[in-house]
Amino acid sequence: MTLPGPTAEQWAAAVAAVRSAGADDEVQLICHVNPDGDALGSMLGFALGLRRLGHTRLRATFPGDFAVPGPYQQLPGSDLLVPEKDAFVSPRLVLIFDVAGVSRLGGLAGLLTTAPAAVVLDHHASNTGFGGIQLVDPSAAATSVVAEGLLSRLGVPLDAEIAECLYVALATDTGSFKFDMTTVSVHELAARLIATGIRPGEISRRIFDSKPFGAMKLTGEVLGRAVLDPGAAGGRGMVWTWATLDDLERHGQPPYILDTLIDPVRSVAEADVSVVVKEVAPGEWSVSLRSKGAVDVSAVAVSQGGGGHRLAAGFTGYGEAAHVVDTVRRLLDRYLI
Ligand code: AMP
Ligand code: MN
Ligand code: MN
Repeated sequence: MTLPGPTAEQWAAAVAAVRSAGADDEVQLICHVNPDGDALGSMLGFALGLRRLGHTRLRATFPGDFAVPGPYQQLPGSDLLVPEKDAFVSPRLVLIFDVAGVSRLGGLAGLLTTAPAAVVLDHHASNTGFGGIQLVDPSAAATSVVAEGLLSRLGVPLDAEIAECLYVALATDTGSFKFDMTTVSVHELAARLIATGIRPGEISRRIFDSKPFGAMKLTGEVLGRAVLDPGAAGGRGMVWTWATLDDLERHGQPPYILDTLIDPVRSVAEADVSVVVKEVAPGEWSVSLRSKGAVDVSAVAVSQGGGGHRLAAGFTGYGEAAHVVDTVRRLLDRYLI
């Protein structure tokens, strides 16, 4: 199924919006709270493109804790990252990356209405259509695909630094070129990125295959308590587990270590649906949902105030972890595909 991407008018409006900002005007780039590889990679890759165009006043940020996951701390363009509190107060142009809805912008959402120009670059099916000019392509494997589309329309050639950012974004959101969204055009883009001289093996090791020992022990413990519920999702099965703040503390690990925990969980053959419930504050849980095709988990997440893609989504749940999972279990039957 090919979902409609941005229209020619939207692309033209986005190009005009970027060009409306002079080289010395303040440009604020923003990605979603708890940023992942696509959020940071598409934002910093685009920021570097603006730098190549001569822009001198660029800042990149995201709401909430100013914690950049270890694997992304050396991304090119990281020098442009500032905490939320240091974002420009009245930028000429605001650019938003990988954000499905305003709730993922926290306290930065106000800039959308005060800035003379705002462009939203995204690929979530659940995108709520917020912001000024929308470049939302639900068929895009990553927001970096949209970012590259805009960079090329602005006449910015790819170089190794931009390419590294966009490659990290693409590799993260395709699960290392494994998910259904891994199309011919994804590989063509990857080929163009690699042609700049970046080293995919070295990048992948740094991004995916480099974790502290404590993270491995934590993962082992959390996977060890996973529960298989074969009757859930109309008999297609659900597997779930949970991790608490106490688990993180005992193993001395930061919260982002749990971002990839869903990957081993979703590999369980007996379950179509996988769920990881991660405590982010006492009684508050970040819920990751994945399906192999039986359930529209984006609909489940949206019904709980979250969002995402049809087969990969998330929301924030409250109360006891078991109660959050019970809610998900009930909703799975409602949103069977
Ligand atoms: P995660 O499970 O955190 O890797 O997220 C899976 C997908 O759901 C990603 O595309 C996220 O952007 C999206 N997502 C996760 N949590 C939320 C939320 N609270 N609101 C909107 N989208 C979300
Ligand atoms: Mn993301
Ligand atoms: Mn993304």
